[in-house]
Amino acid sequence: MELLHTIKEMRSWRSRQPLGARIGLVPTMGALHRGHATLAAQAVAENDRSIASIFVNPTQFGPQEDYSRYPRDLGADAALLAGLGIDAIFAPQARDIYPQQAQITYDIRDLDKRLCGASRPGHMNGVLQIVSILFHIVQPTHAYFGLKDYQQYLLIRRMATELHFPVQVVPCPIVREPDGVAMSSRNRYLDSEQRKQARFLRDVLDDLVGRRSVLQGPADIAQIVEARQAQYPAVRLDYCEVLGGRDLQPISSFNAAQAPVAFIAAYLGQTRLIDNAPLYDYPPA
Ligand code: AMP
Repeated sequence: MELLHTIKEMRSWRSRQPLGARIGLVPTMGALHRGHATLAAQAVAENDRSIASIFVNPTQFGPQEDYSRYPRDLGADAALLAGLGIDAIFAPQARDIYPQQAQITYDIRDLDKRLCGASRPGHMNGVLQIVSILFHIVQPTHAYFGLKDYQQYLLIRRMATELHFPVQVVPCPIVREPDGVAMSSRNRYLDSEQRKQARFLRDVLDDLVGRRSVLQGPADIAQIVEARQAQYPAVRLDYCEVLGGRDLQPISSFNAAQAPVAFIAAYLGQTRLIDNAPLYDYPPA
């Protein structure tokens, strides 16, 4: 496995790959867990060459967010990826990716205005900035993204389609802890009590899926959230919404044809966690 730090090294690696090779990219911010490992294993299995990027992208963090304390452990990440058979890691420096402050911004009409786009102003723009930069530098043919960040996945897919990036965006299933909590690098911020209370997100999603045939609208959703909040007093809800899974627009009825997806975000102390679940199935990619 090659560890590539500079853009020059990255471009050189890319130029050495056989013409027409299928190249799978797994973009990550490091602090890897089993969720990332599943994406990486899929990339290894489906491509001639596979590469993971590890880069804590400053432009997707707000001024009050955890950019400086985000966990970084390149040694452990490299060992995990090597064990999975990844061919290369691209781990650049922020000053090389952004030699000047980024001036080009992304605004995708409706897709980035709700959910995390609303709660974290500028976040989705930062994600699209780094993903477009990585697509240009790495030139993958396939790129792997987790459905845990469903809004992010939809936005990236839309960007790749609309801007004609020659990349297929591949969605990957959510990987969970044994108790159902979605794996996240931020779970390591939680103390043991907060970790127990993180079940809140999963429980609300399970309730919404379980009651999908009787759900009428936002009032029912609010009632389900309220009932669970009584059980998890340490949790501070950010949002819980059920939207159409194709375009993240509000829907008037929660039947399978609308491909409704339930989204939830909540704080445990300073730590913000997100999760989602389709009430039926995710819409086809
Ligand atoms: P991150 O390092 O958090 O930016 O995540 C890198 C990629 O891993 C993104 O495509 C995430 O959606 C994906 N990912 C993170 N956690 C999970 C998980 N629990 N299950 C599946 N994919 C995940």
